[in-house]
Amino acid sequence: MTPDERRQALEEIATEVRGCTRCPLHQQRTNAVPGEGHPDTEVVFVGEGPGYNEDRQGRPFVGAAGGVLNELLTIIGWKRDEVFITNIVKCRPPGNRDPEPAEISACAPYLRRQLEVLDPALVVTLGRHSLQTFMPGARIGGAHGTLQPVDPATGARAAMSYAMYHPAAALRQGSLRETMTVDMCAVPDALTDARATRSAPLADDEPPRPAREQLTESPGDELPDLLAVAGLSTAATAESDDQMELFG
Ligand code: URA
Ligand code: SF4
Repeated sequence: MTPDERRQALEEIATEVRGCTRCPLHQQRTNAVPGEGHPDTEVVFVGEGPGYNEDRQGRPFVGAAGGVLNELLTIIGWKRDEVFITNIVKCRPPGNRDPEPAEISACAPYLRRQLEVLDPALVVTLGRHSLQTFMPGARIGGAHGTLQPVDPATGARAAMSYAMYHPAAALRQGSLRETMTVDMCAVPDALTDARATRSAPLADDEPPRPAREQLTESPGDELPDLLAVAGLSTAATAESDDQMELFG
């Protein structure tokens, strides 16, 4: 697919999402939030579902949690419009309650189709619900900061998933912000690892595909510097690994 074909395919999915009535969440939405980003990106961030501000604006992660996400991306030198950002459910659960299993499965085909079009190397999960889709059975307290192959049934046919806490969790529990910063600082390395996995042929008859190299290379030895910029050291962050599993 060319970038133009990708853009068009994503726009078609977004149009369907905006008119979707497949689950009861459509009844109270102001705007559906299909997701947005670069159609040729290698990295997709998947959150849980729109909140109040996202519902008002029809765009993902534009409220307080979005502010945290933007800040974390800035630390690694990435911009929102270089990646793709979307959610497990595309309409706001009333009162920001958790999405219900029936809502998640009703909405799943949209995310699956977005991933088929984007064909990312790396899927970054934000929070528990996203984690369950890409690392079924995993718990956020142990899984955050780790990388696993993605089941192609998700739509991402050759991707690794990298688990992070939800940015809103860092707002509720300040100590998680350090953990999230450390985890975000490892995302460029995770992308490098995910690219390496992709460069192996997927099947006997399939040639290796070149990575789309638009995002910054791994910071590698720069990681301590990134942490210093964020006011952290690698040692300062080890203790926050035993976080409660409540948030995410
Ligand atoms: N929280 C999410 O999970 N997604 C958003 O888009 C905003 C807040
Ligand atoms: Fe459709 Fe998903 Fe919105 Fe439910 S949450 S109405 S399935 S777009």
